[in-house]
Formats: sequence, structure tokens, C-alpha cells
Amino acid sequence: MSSPLTIRSADQIRAPRRSLLLGGLASLAGVLPRKSQAVNAGLNPGSTDPAFWQQPRAVKVQNADTGQRGEFVYWRDGTYVMEDYYALCTLGFDRRENKAVQIDPRVFDLVYATQAWYFGIERKRPLTLLTSVYRTSKTNRIVGGSPRSTHIEGKAADGDMEGVSPKVYAAMLLAFKAGGVGLYEKHCHWDVGRSPTFWRGGKVES
Ligand SMILES: [Zn+2]
Repeated sequence: MSSPLTIRSADQIRAPRRSLLLGGLASLAGVLPRKSQAVNAGLNPGSTDPAFWQQPRAVKVQNADTGQRGEFVYWRDGTYVMEDYYALCTLGFDRRENKAVQIDPRVFDLVYATQAWYFGIERKRPLTLLTSVYRTSKTNRIVGGSPRSTHIEGKAADGDMEGVSPKVYAAMLLAFKAGGVGLYEKHCHWDVGRSPTFWRGGKVES
């Protein structure tokens, strides 16, 4: 379970798992639809560039509910930038209960990695629209989430990335092997900290 947002130093935040860094995109061949082969043929940040995770981790995101948006650099020069990390956690708050918690930074790493990947191909910074990040147990029940939803633990996000279809976005997320990826009609779910798994979403969010 997550605790309320009470981080005092970057030391308390776990570094992204190495599995994320090593996740290869080679397996993506054949997964991406034909019209997105440009993505497939280009930058492969996870596996071909070891320096990738040493670069400043900048993300451009928007909360789909509140409209709040911004660009955040939550990691640079070997450490977390707490102000921006907090801002991201706050942006992903549970609106129903007005509560924010510490989000597993690997959730944002996936936003960063997929955006950087997209940038490598299109030379354009995409926006990731977040529809749901943190949920209290109560909210999770109300929205019909799975009882063991990783959103409750601050280890998941739902959303989509400007410029790619949910199908392509799911394939990009999956390539990093960071956890679960769900493909829904209009968005993707991604979570971290468990074995890579993929599903096509029904009505129930996980
Ligand atoms: Zn979800």
C-alpha cells in the first residue's frame, strides 16, 4: 500500500529497476502495425543506448480530468528532482478524494521512455494524457477497478500518447518489460513492478 506523500529525500525513492533499462525493443517487430513502422525502425532507447537513462528525464503530461498540464524534469544529473517529481505525483492525484501519494517513479519512466522514443522518430515532443493514476480503494471500487488494482498502490497509470494509437502505444509500453500493459479501446493501462503481462481490456480496469 502507498503512504501519503511524505518523501523527504530522494534516497527514499527507489531507482527504476534495471529490467526497465534492459527491456529490448527487438520483440516489437511484428507487433507494430504497418503504418507505424517508422517507430519500429528508429530509436531504441531501452536497449541500444546505455546512456539513455542518464539523460534528464523530461515528460510532457496532462491530467485528462482537470486539464492541468506541464513539462516536468523529474530526474537529472543522477538524482531525482523532487519538486518536479512531487508535481507529477500531485498531477496524478485521486480527484474524488483529493489525495495524492508517492507514485512509483517507474510509472513516469515509462512515460519518459515512450516520449523519448517517439521524439527520436518524429522529432516532436508528444503529450501523454493521463486519465487515471492514483486511486484510493474507495475510488477504485466506485470506478469498478479490480480489487487488487495496482492503481491503489501508486504503481499504475492509464492514458494515451498523442500521435500514436492505443495499439501502438501498448506495444511501445510492452517493449520495456516493466509490468502489466492493458490495451483498451481509447487508452492503455501500464503498471510496474511485476512480470510483464499483456491483456486486452474489457470493462474492468486493473
Ligand atoms: Zn488502469
